Amino acid sequence: MDCFFSVLYSADYKCVLCGEEAFDEKLLCGSCFKNISLCKGEFYVEKENLCIKFYSVAYYSKSIKEMIIRLKYKRDFLCAEVLGNLMYNYIMKNNIKFDEITFVPMEKGDLKRRGYNQSKLLANELSKRIKLPVKEYLEKNSKTSDQIGLNGKMRWQNLSSAFTACNEKAILNRKIILVDDVFTTGATGFYCAKNLISNGAKSVIVLTAAKSSI
Ligand SMILES: [Zn+2]
Repeated sequence: MDCFFSVLYSADYKCVLCGEEAFDEKLLCGSCFKNISLCKGEFYVEKENLCIKFYSVAYYSKSIKEMIIRLKYKRDFLCAEVLGNLMYNYIMKNNIKFDEITFVPMEKGDLKRRGYNQSKLLANELSKRIKLPVKEYLEKNSKTSDQIGLNGKMRWQNLSSAFTACNEKAILNRKIILVDDVFTTGATGFYCAKNLISNGAKSVIVLTAAKSSI
């Protein structure tokens, strides 16, 4: 029997966070998985006569926080796989419907410095599982200042003209899911969604891996 199981688990999956054995391709061990606090259901951001529906998979704490930090700052792309898988499961569980996947863009200089856009990596992971291609529908303008150090109102102002839709023809009448890593004030997701809608999208749902309370 021992021999049978060692063959069965020969792929030797290790937890991306602690290195303990993870018994399947989900790449998280039982205890790192257990401390994830999942969010329940949708929530809305209403502003400027527009109401946008948001979903976040889990609260920004413990394993989820650690994976996002590793993905964003330590080039740990296995974390994108784990988060993408959690996002996929969340979509299935909540029966979220859409026909296109896009992501929150980064400003060109920032993208060059980091070398990758973590939201796009999450969108790619989702795309693999859902079998829909990832579309580039938005650009981030270079004049936006860093959100760090700004208060809530200033963050909103700073982002109000930060995004531009870049493929109006393809956007027309599409139901789009917009992927981002963390929900903080909702300003980023809101203005991306607003841009897509004002350029003809039928609907936009924002999905983030994590929700932070500031
Ligand atoms: Zn672990």
